Amino acid sequence: MVNIDATMRGVHWAAISKEAPFTEDSSNQKAEYDIAVVGGGFCGLSIALHAASAGRSVVLLEAGTIGCGASGRNGGIVVPHFPGAMTADDVVQVLGRERGERLAKLVADGPGFVFDQIRELGIACDGEQNGWLQPAHSEKSLAKVRRVHESWVARGVDAEWIDAQGVAEMTGASGYLGGWHRKSGGTVNPYALAQGLARVARERGADIRQHVVVGSILKDGAAQVLSTSVGEFRARKVVIATNAHTPSLYPGLAQSVIPVLLFHGFTRPLDDAEKRTVLPTRVCFTDLRKSGGFSRLSSDDRVIIGGAIFRPSNHRAYSEWHSARRLAELFPHLGGIHVESFWEGWCALTDAYLPAIQRLEPNVYSVIGFSTRGVALAQTLGREFAQFLCENKTETEMPVRVGPVLPISMQPIKAFLGGFAFPAYQLRDALRLT
Ligand SMILES: Cc1cc2nc3c(=O)[nH]c(=O)nc-3n(C[C@H](O)[C@H](O)[C@H](O)COP(=O)(O)OP(=O)(O)OC[C@H]3O[C@@H](n4cnc5c(N)ncnc54)[C@H](O)[C@@H]3O)c2cc1C
Repeated sequence: MVNIDATMRGVHWAAISKEAPFTEDSSNQKAEYDIAVVGGGFCGLSIALHAASAGRSVVLLEAGTIGCGASGRNGGIVVPHFPGAMTADDVVQVLGRERGERLAKLVADGPGFVFDQIRELGIACDGEQNGWLQPAHSEKSLAKVRRVHESWVARGVDAEWIDAQGVAEMTGASGYLGGWHRKSGGTVNPYALAQGLARVARERGADIRQHVVVGSILKDGAAQVLSTSVGEFRARKVVIATNAHTPSLYPGLAQSVIPVLLFHGFTRPLDDAEKRTVLPTRVCFTDLRKSGGFSRLSSDDRVIIGGAIFRPSNHRAYSEWHSARRLAELFPHLGGIHVESFWEGWCALTDAYLPAIQRLEPNVYSVIGFSTRGVALAQTLGREFAQFLCENKTETEMPVRVGPVLPISMQPIKAFLGGFAFPAYQLRDALRLT
């Protein structure tokens, strides 16, 4: 399990959040709950919200504070697509036709659901549905991006192809050869969104606790007993939604994801002249560079930047050096703008870059492994899983198989090597090999 840092120090999202940090009250306490959720990120919060909305008694136990994991630290880009160049056809190969198509639909429809829910629940998270673009930064990536686009269009998804000039006009970014775009994508303040989801889940009856570390889960008759840093909780069903922070609560569980440490930073706010040339349509984009080729604006008009942490380095100095180079590449006219804020966060990969649902005991599950595409998917799969827990959806109707624990082969080695990979990614991107 990787560190949990509840301070949110340096995380710009917390500084500009229009939702207040979540506060607990004791009004929803019970001696025994229908469902216990471990982890207060998008996945756990979505399960708690939707199970409570369906009338179940729910307790959510968060080791730090709401959103202190990846959910409050990510880029807040709400993406209607799988990671990188993975196509819906690739996903069908991995999951089989029925489940693969179901997951593809969940991913394609994800941002629509997220923004509708934000509006419906009145969450003040600066949601901006100005579209998302996957542009190609090299000839090699152009072929991949075209394949991705074709695969979505073949499924009736309203993805439009944009030529090089169109990409330049939408983004103000240099060097792109074309790309595909969907209007449904957009951006949020992810920390604010997490606080808002927790607030509404509490209003709907969920008992949400912070600073409660779950240390073990043991069966006691029909109930599961969760032993925690503040005492015991009883529930009939348990779901572990701890992603990269997944503890060794069951054999092999922590080894079923590869934690990777990423960083983000923001520039100073752009001035009015800069705003006319950098992301003038306030679209957001993610290209196929392994060393972080993406951009968006914050509500206070800063440009985001990010990548993976190179573990042997001085994290901040190395990341700022990389960020300055990438910003100069994307927006040369910004003239060497530097990064003002900097923070880190853990993301959880699986071998297939797709989330896994694992049955650990007859009534204990984990839903983890959202890779770099969890802002929408952790919420939508969380909603689907809440329906499964509430017995409104069967196992065969789930978009991801409910399977046994699958530890990743050589997981400790892969996790260790992941901390050294960033320079290799930078080199491959610089040589246009991606
Ligand atoms: C830097 C970064 C940038 C990213 N950018 C994007 C992006 O722009 N778009 C996108 O779609 N995705 C992005 N992602 C991925 C996305 O943030 C995640 O996939 C998503 O937030 C996962 O949500 P989660 O609820 O599964 O996990 P988390 O948000 O990590 O929540 C897990 C929670 O479990 C808690 N926990 C762990 N152990 C225990 C325990 N024993 N007891 C109680 N609680 C426990 C942790 O404290 C944590 O709060 C990014 C990720 C990172 C790290």
